[in-house]
Amino acid sequence: MARTMFQDLYPEAIGVIGGSGLSRMGIGDFVEVHPPHMLEGPFGQPSGPITMREIGGKLFGFLPRHGEGHRIPAHKVPARANAWALRDLGIRTAIGCCAVGSLRKGVPPGTLVIPSGLVNDTQGNRPAYTFFDEVTVHISRAELLCEYLGAAITKACSANNQREGSIFRGGSCVVIPGPGFGTPDESHIRRLHNPNLIVGMTQDPEATLCAEAGIRYAVLCLVTDYDVWRKEDTSVDVSEVTNALIRWDWEGLIGKMLERFAPAWEEPSAKECLCTQRVHGAIQMDHHVIRESPDLMELYGALLGPHLQGRPI
Ligand SMILES: [Zn+2]
Repeated sequence: MARTMFQDLYPEAIGVIGGSGLSRMGIGDFVEVHPPHMLEGPFGQPSGPITMREIGGKLFGFLPRHGEGHRIPAHKVPARANAWALRDLGIRTAIGCCAVGSLRKGVPPGTLVIPSGLVNDTQGNRPAYTFFDEVTVHISRAELLCEYLGAAITKACSANNQREGSIFRGGSCVVIPGPGFGTPDESHIRRLHNPNLIVGMTQDPEATLCAEAGIRYAVLCLVTDYDVWRKEDTSVDVSEVTNALIRWDWEGLIGKMLERFAPAWEEPSAKECLCTQRVHGAIQMDHHVIRESPDLMELYGALLGPHLQGRPI
């Protein structure tokens, strides 16, 4: 029987969704203050247990996106169960960490990118894109990557004495279908649209599902390669990506960023960020129908319950 309310055990905690090169959070001497949580909800089992750690006086919930041993490929990541599990713990802020390819000469491997936009080009190759298959809910996907959180991540990266030009804030990340890398022609087409800066495989629907779950979300990406648009880069492979993650010490960069981020982070006011309130006013279906259906309430009670005001549609 699914819970119709979230547990909200750690309402102040910040989620960290670790991708390639970040399958565990073994950074520094962080103390594990709570046992790992494996939270199976109405939308299935998350990629792995969520481990709570304390860094700089704040709690972080770490979720390995690809599971233990990187056993879940990008196109099979249970992003819906992952967002639900984070929200079930009470987490309302999450940082997605991703390895990406660059579409621009000026953004070389080793650059940290905090994009401001996403283009979902996954072409249906994901297990799910929404929680709302059985109810009619249209959330806003404007500012899908939270500006407030993105700025805080950027500031934390900048404070790390990164070498000049190694942090880029802005641009769009194109999310490709995977699991294969793109073709050179696809890479050229993606370069035609000016805001497109990087390509990845996991940023969306992770961002959309976090948005639907009332979680503010932004991504921090490490450029590992130039994708395949340059004449001199006729292919990109796993060893190139893996070597880059080691060479640029991705795990260490994330650790340093979180150590700076934690003491500086303050929950935004409603004026600064409305990301956690997207469901409010987005429910088009008659609220009474949802509220009076045990099946719908079992699935959606936790996500929609507080927003079901009973007003006529
Ligand atoms: Zn926001």
